[in-house]
Amino acid sequence: MLARELYPGARYRPTAAHVFIALLARKGLLHMLFTQNIDCLERAAGVPADRIVEAHGSFASQRCIECKVEFEGGKMREFVAKGEVPRCEVEGCGGLVKPDIVFFGEALPRAFFELSDRAKEADLILVMGTSLQVHPFAGLPNMADEDVPRVLFNLERVGSFGTQADDVMVLGDCDEGIRKLADELGWREELETAWRELVGEEEVERQMQGAKKRVAALHDEVSKLAEEVEEVLHIDDKEGGQEAEKTEAQGTPPASPGEKPEAAVESPQDDTSPPKADGQDHVEQGDKVDGTDDSAKKAVL
Ligand SMILES: [Zn+2]
Repeated sequence: MLARELYPGARYRPTAAHVFIALLARKGLLHMLFTQNIDCLERAAGVPADRIVEAHGSFASQRCIECKVEFEGGKMREFVAKGEVPRCEVEGCGGLVKPDIVFFGEALPRAFFELSDRAKEADLILVMGTSLQVHPFAGLPNMADEDVPRVLFNLERVGSFGTQADDVMVLGDCDEGIRKLADELGWREELETAWRELVGEEEVERQMQGAKKRVAALHDEVSKLAEEVEEVLHIDDKEGGQEAEKTEAQGTPPASPGEKPEAAVESPQDDTSPPKADGQDHVEQGDKVDGTDDSAKKAVL
């Protein structure tokens, strides 16, 4: 069932962020894309296979779990469509065939270790839509020199972002952040056209509707948070006052006023997000982006 849900093209379609990575490649600017996605959406968007390191594997290939012999892709799709599990065709084997996905606790593909040095060669690092929590993948953005600008497109700050002088964080929806970058680069029209041609009008509409819903939901959440914060602050005012009186009476230093909740709402949440992709981007010749807005995206290294 997992396979049927996630199988490329089955449900999810590339978003503007995926298409942006493909644009980078088309312009000769993509050094290497490292992704944690297993959905092959970067491939579907047109990123060349030799520029992609699927650190957690993908559905692009599959093999027998016993003899490790690869199983043909076309046949695999037929099985998945029928909801059946294919068996190895090597004589006398008959082992289960599984997509080349890395499950939690399994070793990352050799390609990841062979190619992760490419991250050191980047002169711009773009990180999109990732929690940067799973190592060794999460260490990729730290591999380049400290003076290499790093741009994060994500809902929140992650990893070591914000610790280097040239870090830029575009917090918020990933695809919206990428659109802002495309605006700055003068690529916006090219990006939208390529995306629309790739996914079709119906899908464009679907993603836009989904985006609106997410924005609305986020706004609700933000106002709720704001109310809660206000409430807490009021309570703290009162408690702080009482505390101060008490402690004064005892002759000890007044207690500090209530701690502020850490709910800091970091940024405008304009959101529109199709399925998330993770990874990072690495670009050969970086145009610096000097935005400090809010929006998030996907990553390629
Ligand atoms: Zn086998």
